[in-house]
Amino acid sequence: MKTIFKRIIDRELPAHIIHEDELCLAFYDVSPQAPTHVLVIPKKEIRSLNETQPEDQLLLGHMLIVTTRLARELNVANDGYRVVININENGGQTVFHLHMHLLAGRALTWPPG
Ligand code: AMP
Repeated sequence: MKTIFKRIIDRELPAHIIHEDELCLAFYDVSPQAPTHVLVIPKKEIRSLNETQPEDQLLLGHMLIVTTRLARELNVANDGYRVVININENGGQTVFHLHMHLLAGRALTWPPG
């Protein structure tokens, strides 16, 4: 069974995509938790951060670089933002394809819920 995100990668489901390259894809979250809420996902199918391997080092670094570049392009970098990776049940993960949340546009509280 394909995950929702794999179906977005394969263009079987619509998404508002704002970045794509050979390694990753970024699109707006369908249920935004902040005025700016973008997801950055690898094209490689990785279930969660738990399943990453040493060979994914370049990919993970690339995703962070893309995320910060998007924060600048979306004009939220200076005010600040949060990058979140939820992992498994206690982490609140609901889609089991690795993704980074870019949350911005309001003061985010700490600790998170
Ligand atoms: P997580 O809870 O960390 O697994 O995050 C999954 C995120 O995917 C949630 O914020 C959802 O709102 C988001 N989401 C689920 N389905 C879609 C979709 N079809 N398009 C965009 N975002 C989605």
